[in-house]
Amino acid sequence: MKNKGIYLDYAATTPVSERVFLAMEPYFSKEFANPSSLHIPGQRAQAALDEARQQVADILGASWKEIIFTASATESINLAIRGTIKATPIVPPGGTIPVLRHSERPKVIPHIVTTNIEHSAVLNTCHDLEKEGIEVTYLLVDKEGLITAKQVKDALRENTVLVSIGYVNNEIGTIQPISDIANIIRDIRNYKHEVRNSKQIQNSKSKIQNKNISDFGFRSSDLESGYPLFHTDAVQAANYLDINVQNLGVDMMTLSGHKIYGPKGVGVLYKKDSVILKPIIIGGGQERELRAGTENIPAIVGFAEALKETEEAKKKEMARLQKLRDFFIDESLKHAKNIILNGSREYRVANNASFCFEGKKTETLIPRLDAAGIYVSGGSACASRTLEASHVIEAIGKKKHAKSAVRFTLGRATTKKDIEKAIDIVIKLTV
Ligand code: PLP
Repeated sequence: MKNKGIYLDYAATTPVSERVFLAMEPYFSKEFANPSSLHIPGQRAQAALDEARQQVADILGASWKEIIFTASATESINLAIRGTIKATPIVPPGGTIPVLRHSERPKVIPHIVTTNIEHSAVLNTCHDLEKEGIEVTYLLVDKEGLITAKQVKDALRENTVLVSIGYVNNEIGTIQPISDIANIIRDIRNYKHEVRNSKQIQNSKSKIQNKNISDFGFRSSDLESGYPLFHTDAVQAANYLDINVQNLGVDMMTLSGHKIYGPKGVGVLYKKDSVILKPIIIGGGQERELRAGTENIPAIVGFAEALKETEEAKKKEMARLQKLRDFFIDESLKHAKNIILNGSREYRVANNASFCFEGKKTETLIPRLDAAGIYVSGGSACASRTLEASHVIEAIGKKKHAKSAVRFTLGRATTKKDIEKAIDIVIKLTV
């Protein structure tokens, strides 16, 4: 940073790394052609796009066909959620009415399962869909901000088309059991498949949830064995955790460029080849007809390079930051008065330390930290400009303290000295 402050807001955004910057540079002015153009420069741009897509696919354990570039994680999330709803094949018994048509309300309404601590990109999309009649279950997290795979299982209904659970919470750093949830969802789908194949469905009760299929107005043919789909928002996980989609077992996964030392304005949605989505941005046929608009080649090339660099640095950086984070948390809890750690100690991402400062307000703490040269966020960076209480802190049962949260997030440039200074300031703030 220009002024000699200590930046501890890496969950809000990261700087573009030198290596990423250099990889992007040729694609602004020199290699600027549109990849859809048939001429030679256009073909070079297409080749750069193809290479970036393959690179991302290789890192995620996916096929190039399964990588969709978007303009942000927010857009990827919207595509995953709205695109699933738009493509939902469930129709009312005997009918062919598209699910979202208001005038002819379908009897079977798609249902989504998510949690009450998701990023606003997920939560507000779900709230918006509720206005259109879509059903949403918001799973309640425990005091540490965790949910269990069993909670997901218990929330599933016959009409559940999508489960969307964030891998790492952006405010309190909690890591959710993504592969356990994926296993449960896979079992349910296999069960549905078996039931469908053996034609034992007529007049029989569904064992899933002990709910009668007729409760939902389904016919046996409506029981789609490919549902529910499982999407995870892995934006805050990518720097430190396994994001191989085979290991995780997810159907869709969202990533963001600017959280992995890449550029802003680029996101990825991994979508398993078998998953059917409908586009939400309509126009040209880019991204296999799933996301219209001329591809942002510099940003896409930057994303691929950033993901590669992050993957290479992951193991070492995770171990380094975990140590610094634990030092920060332990020393702060030991010496500062009336602060509470938010989130889990065990299931916590390597770079997050979030505290509530009892009796203090985020809006006064941030300027004081700023004055001391420590740059942080309240709950999430997106909500920093509002004085609203953090929905995440409320959800973990700290309603009283929901306006006193401060999030410190560490990154590549963070040193032990920075953390020592931060601890010192945290202690001073509480005396
Ligand atoms: N999901 C999480 C967990 C995030 O932290 C963020 C960014 O704050 C987003 C989604 C949105 O990312 P983008 O800024 O790329 O839209």
